[in-house]
Amino acid sequence: MLCLTLYHLVRTSKSNTFMLNIKRILVTGGAGFLGSYLCEQLVEQGHDVICLDNFFTSQKSNVSHLLAQPNFELIRHDITQPIFLEVDEVYNLACPAAPGHYQYNPIKTFKTSVLGMTHVLGLAKRCRAKVLQASTSEIYGDPEVHPQPESYRGCVNPIGTRACYDEGKRAAETLCADYHRFNQVDVRMVRIFNTYGPRMHPFDGRVVSNFIRQALAHEEITIFGDGSQTRSFCFRDDLLEGMMRMMNNPLDFMGPVNLGNPDEFTIRELAELVIELTSSKSQLVQRPLPADDPTRRRPDITLAQEKLSWQPTVPLRAGLIKTIEWFQSINMADYRAPTPCY
Ligand code: NAD
Ligand code: UDP
Repeated sequence: MLCLTLYHLVRTSKSNTFMLNIKRILVTGGAGFLGSYLCEQLVEQGHDVICLDNFFTSQKSNVSHLLAQPNFELIRHDITQPIFLEVDEVYNLACPAAPGHYQYNPIKTFKTSVLGMTHVLGLAKRCRAKVLQASTSEIYGDPEVHPQPESYRGCVNPIGTRACYDEGKRAAETLCADYHRFNQVDVRMVRIFNTYGPRMHPFDGRVVSNFIRQALAHEEITIFGDGSQTRSFCFRDDLLEGMMRMMNNPLDFMGPVNLGNPDEFTIRELAELVIELTSSKSQLVQRPLPADDPTRRRPDITLAQEKLSWQPTVPLRAGLIKTIEWFQSINMADYRAPTPCY
């Protein structure tokens, strides 16, 4: 570690100015929607970035623009298997995040959260690395408390179809807290609420990508249930800013901390906004509501404001405009649907 630190002290950044704090950073799930943007930011800051991914819900093209950078490395690896690397920090994002993806092979999803977290924490313990865990608002299940503060312990059906994800992420938080208490691993947990933006997988089946894809093709917009359920949508750049603030926070504060946009919308309102912004001729159609679909969700971000001086800055309309522009710029045929979706 000493050699690594000395090396970091003398290395120069891309812009050729001396940087005293260059780190070697592992991003698991680094080729995904959030991970690829995080890798991009960290490479830009001059850090040595190792992106690890098994490409289940992503593809190499998300990070192909980084491959020529001397401070970027890509490893195809499944985090359910151990890995030996020497790093200063780990952002643990490896896990399918869309309901259709994580329910496709629920046992694998659970293993990805629990075994993946165990391997990451073991690695961090060995090389005294700091770990940030990408946890989720799904920790709260179908919440009886609204909005949801971190102190709320949640209402999760442990044997339902969402449990592989919800309980897997809950167990991962348990592992983080115990590695911190028993092994002094420096952990940070962020509970991410629905996040959207450029580079989301167009066939991930999530509501924002589905609605934009359907609207641009003037196809029916699929509302699950009556569309009165709510979500709070955070733009990708806001979320990543909060995540990096949590990792770099000098306080002895492991969280968990909610990261999300507290503006709450019904799913029907979202559909109407997407239709307006795309000038689409699409009609709304109702489909059955999936089991255990949370009726409402909105983060209480008081803790993030206090500890990280963080709050979202991009309203839904502005974020959707950027996301729609990105969807218009890509060739959908270049994307393989990881699992069947609408
Ligand atoms: P994503 O599906 O685009 O990214 C996940 C990445 O992990 C993909 O590249 C996938 O191939 C990889 N992966 C999956 N299983 C793996 C395994 N076993 N080994 C190695 N790599 C594996 O999803 P995302 O939206 O970018 O989410 C990133 C993280 O943030 C996830 O952990 C997710 O649970 C969490 N999160 C995201 C949201 C959101 O709204 N986007 C909300 C809450 C939590
Ligand atoms: N949803 C919908 N139509 C779709 C996809 C999703 O009405 O085509 C609904 C879904 O039932 C849920 C909400 O949109 O109530 C958000 O779904 P998503 O899969 O994006 O994420 P979740 O918050 O449920 O994990």
